[in-house]
Amino acid sequence: MAPLKYLQAYPEALQQQVHQLIAQDRLGAHLAARYPDRHAVQSDKALYAYTSALKQQYLKNAPTIDKVLYDSKLDVVQRALGLHTAISRVQGSKLKAKKEIRVAALFKAVAPEFLQMIVVHELAHLKELDHNKAFYQLCTYMLPDYHQREFDLRVYLTWRELTSTQVSGNQRGYCDATETTAAAVPAQRHRVGPG
Ligand SMILES: [Zn+2]
Repeated sequence: MAPLKYLQAYPEALQQQVHQLIAQDRLGAHLAARYPDRHAVQSDKALYAYTSALKQQYLKNAPTIDKVLYDSKLDVVQRALGLHTAISRVQGSKLKAKKEIRVAALFKAVAPEFLQMIVVHELAHLKELDHNKAFYQLCTYMLPDYHQREFDLRVYLTWRELTSTQVSGNQRGYCDATETTAAAVPAQRHRVGPG
């Protein structure tokens, strides 16, 4: 059985369930039933407003975000969990760190639950650079269901890749969360089935 690259960090039994849905050609229907909606945040301006509102609600003291945008160059799904950068620029004699959140353009056409999860993930990086325990605590503070959402998003990305022939070789510095969650996440918190 081919490994599911987005789900490698999760327990074998969960991966088996996803394999089974794929084998039965039921994964697409499963996802559609669970996440039927599409969000309306379709421009960079709207994404900035959406992100700022979440930040204002939960992370007022985090550094100010200068820019938020959908990045079509991030439309490669290997590491699609977004890109967070602190660009240091010399402006005259002053060194200014610019906080930027880039969200892969593929997230324009997903369920609102997935957009929220990805923005929460990137906002947490304003305070914690690494995918450590403090990072995930921030994520679950903003979104109590964070771990289930990330798992479901990874299932979605798996399905998206299975049903897409598009291949891209872009290898810029993505936020690579592919190897992260297993240690931090109790297995029983993830459900593959409905409910
Ligand atoms: Zn990350």
